[in-house]
Amino acid sequence: MNYAHPSFYMIIQFPGKKQSFSILQREVDVKQPDPTSAALVSIHGGHSGEFCCHASDSLEEIVRAYIRKGFEWVGITEHIPPVSAAFLYPDEIEGGYTPESMLARFAEYISVASKLQNRYRDAIRVLVGFETECCTGYEAHVEGLRSRFQPDYIVGSVHHVRDIPIDGSPALYARAVEEVGGIDALFCEYFDQQYALLEVLQPEVVGHFDLIRMHDQDYHGRLERPEVKGRIRRNLERIKELGSILDFNLRAFEKGGSEPYVSGSILEMAFELGIPCVPGDDSHGVAGVGLHVRKGIDILEQHGFSTAWPIPGVTRDGN
Ligand SMILES: [Zn+2]
Ligand SMILES: [Zn+2]
Repeated sequence: MNYAHPSFYMIIQFPGKKQSFSILQREVDVKQPDPTSAALVSIHGGHSGEFCCHASDSLEEIVRAYIRKGFEWVGITEHIPPVSAAFLYPDEIEGGYTPESMLARFAEYISVASKLQNRYRDAIRVLVGFETECCTGYEAHVEGLRSRFQPDYIVGSVHHVRDIPIDGSPALYARAVEEVGGIDALFCEYFDQQYALLEVLQPEVVGHFDLIRMHDQDYHGRLERPEVKGRIRRNLERIKELGSILDFNLRAFEKGGSEPYVSGSILEMAFELGIPCVPGDDSHGVAGVGLHVRKGIDILEQHGFSTAWPIPGVTRDGN
């Protein structure tokens, strides 16, 4: 495909409620943006069935869905390949993957995402990033991926405590609780690991900051305990110093939560500290594109956050 060929470029037809873009000879109906409302964006999304075993659809289908829904920009932030075979997830083992083949697939992801960034540049701003892990050996692994692939930004996420997944099944969560010696201790250790990640990686975006509450019914009270709250404040203060952005992660609604990550009390603290918070749909397929983003924007507006969204890796501390 010759992208320099004139037929590649979009044809925009006016007037009408919808613009009709002809991209690569195919039609994409694009919602006309409403200039009075905040721009639709996702700072964390675009996991695809092409490059992730627990997602669906091709990355191009997902990017086209963002265009159709009128998004101004989207950060595509696929999961990193595992540090070692010990961290392959069951679906990856079933799929016959090894750390080596996962790394090759990740390289292909960066290549395809970069092509899509260029192909659709006149319709949407696509940023190409990735989402980290925080398990034994992650530090050198992530830095290696960063220097090899030069992403636009990274999302610093913690999905393990003591190398046990905390966002998988309730049984795995219970195992982590047992290993650490109680739920309060699990929260403390999660936030300590997150602090270490902030120190080492200085990520431009912090993913689903309070994911540790996923399987805890009593999390509202737990987030108020002095030993937990103190750690949350410490981490937020570090995020502020780093000029990083919080992913206001709306996939929580899809996972049975009644509010996004971060929870209301943490959102208030972030606002006081002047930390920017930007919607992330954490999409894992076309069906998840833009899901709950309007609701997320409403919540952020109600809390007084600016909707002049900073762009990670481009606008530093732009709130
Ligand atoms: Zn995922
Ligand atoms: Zn995640």
